[in-house]
Amino acid sequence: MTKFIFVTGGVVSSLGKGITTAAIAVLLEKRGLKVSIQKLDPYINVDPGTMSPFEHGEVYVTEDGAETDLDLGHYERFSHAPISRYSNATTGSIYSEVIRRERKGDYLGKTVQVIPHITDQIQRAIRQGAQRGIDVAIVEVGGTAGDIESLPFLEAIRQFGLKLGKGNVCYVHLTLLPYLSASGEMKTKPTQETVRRMREIGIQPDILVCRCERPMTQEMRRKIAMFCNVAGEDVIQEMDVPHTIYEVPLDLLREGMDEALVRCLRLEATEQGEFSDWEDLQSRFADPEGEVEIAVVGKYIELHDAYKSIYEALAHGGAAHRHKVRFRKVSAEDLADRGPEEVLRGCSGLLVPGGFGERGLEGKIRAIQWAREHKLPFFGICFGMQAMVIEYARNVAGIEGAHTSEVDPDCAAPVIDLMREQEGVEDKGGTMRLGAYPCRVIENTRCAEIYGRDMVLERHRHRWEFNNDYKAKLEKAGLTCSGIWEARGLVETVELRDRPFFIGVQYHPEFKSKPLAPHPLFQAFVGAAIAFAEERAAEDEDASAPASSATTS
Ligand code: GLN
Repeated sequence: MTKFIFVTGGVVSSLGKGITTAAIAVLLEKRGLKVSIQKLDPYINVDPGTMSPFEHGEVYVTEDGAETDLDLGHYERFSHAPISRYSNATTGSIYSEVIRRERKGDYLGKTVQVIPHITDQIQRAIRQGAQRGIDVAIVEVGGTAGDIESLPFLEAIRQFGLKLGKGNVCYVHLTLLPYLSASGEMKTKPTQETVRRMREIGIQPDILVCRCERPMTQEMRRKIAMFCNVAGEDVIQEMDVPHTIYEVPLDLLREGMDEALVRCLRLEATEQGEFSDWEDLQSRFADPEGEVEIAVVGKYIELHDAYKSIYEALAHGGAAHRHKVRFRKVSAEDLADRGPEEVLRGCSGLLVPGGFGERGLEGKIRAIQWAREHKLPFFGICFGMQAMVIEYARNVAGIEGAHTSEVDPDCAAPVIDLMREQEGVEDKGGTMRLGAYPCRVIENTRCAEIYGRDMVLERHRHRWEFNNDYKAKLEKAGLTCSGIWEARGLVETVELRDRPFFIGVQYHPEFKSKPLAPHPLFQAFVGAAIAFAEERAAEDEDASAPASSATTS
């Protein structure tokens, strides 16, 4: 029988509930258990696909083509949990299913209400999220205890726990121990308050995870345990991590989190596994051999979460080379104003991520031109790949009026054009080309060398595509189409073959990179950036050498 862990949060948002949830999965997997992870989101959108990245951060795409919350990215990066469209449910998706059933007549004669109909549907979604063969299903509830909109979810997990009974369900509550610098102490009152709230709702947390900047004292632990009605060893400290979020599983392990879970769920868990892989990873972040700076030119640059998976994948690529990646976050509009030279000088690689619409596109195109002319390693993802094609068409192939019809539907040369399948599609939600598609990697290309395989499966989220009407002309001008979706003859990757790394991909490889298994394209890109930096340093040294030898002689 599958056991369940529910992770809730209190006091404030942004405590890192998603990362804690993912880290719990790591601890249980190390014990030899099969886990699933699910996120319940209290907002009314059916999925986050139609939200601005400024509102919600990046939209994470699953293998089966669901547009989901970015916490699912953490789940996949940390663990081996199977992630699919059932791994994320929202108030919107729950209600739309209940309303569909009501129209069908499933509730004939009944008044359809939040309790029991919505809460029952939430419990069905929870069961669906925990697929067959799973030992422990971990469910993260979005929002903060006490929010009006999360109440039906909390009521649903309360009922769920009641049905399954003690030993089969574990409630983990994340809370904050704020440090008051004026009085020089950490405060437990907000934690007592949020646990009181949970108990009013009918949920007694089994384990409290206390987020804090400084270590908590034995006295505080004792106080929290007593006031919150939990055992002392179930009060777990989770301090801010100095180097990387990938330290969290090790920290929780040291704090006895996995023992606490095993106790609460009465798991016949095997021996604690060994963590040398995570320890090695931790040392790569804590103790790098060097640093490399990479510019990310995008539209939502002010918000780190907007390109979350991109930054993570770059960090994975860096760790593979024992290098820390520093991000130079550049607003594409800013670049259009100040010019690429001023903004990009000194960095060792350029990445242009996905995006939509006109704002910032010309800035991205100028950045790519500068990178091409200065032999800077470049990585274009989705819209970034489309911008690379437009740049090459305009400035190398001499195709006048080259553009994407997304921005200028009447342009003379739509080198990027709306996909055939997208014509006539009017609904905005969930209608893009979404999820994993096979891509054949063409022999004797940089992509083939980097992947070391001739077939790859990568995830998509777009409506426009490379226009094959211009393929011959662009190839003649030196652009190599190195990856093809054969079923439709669509170009998935383009590259400049004579460069260490100048590649654009129509898909989102960042969704498949893991810290313990960096994506080959990100690893190669960061490698090329490191080599570029080293060459530049050597050239600078050469340039200054005659002068210094002149002074010494
Ligand atoms: N706006 C482009 C398209 O829809 C690119 C989308 C993206 O970068 N995710 O094709």
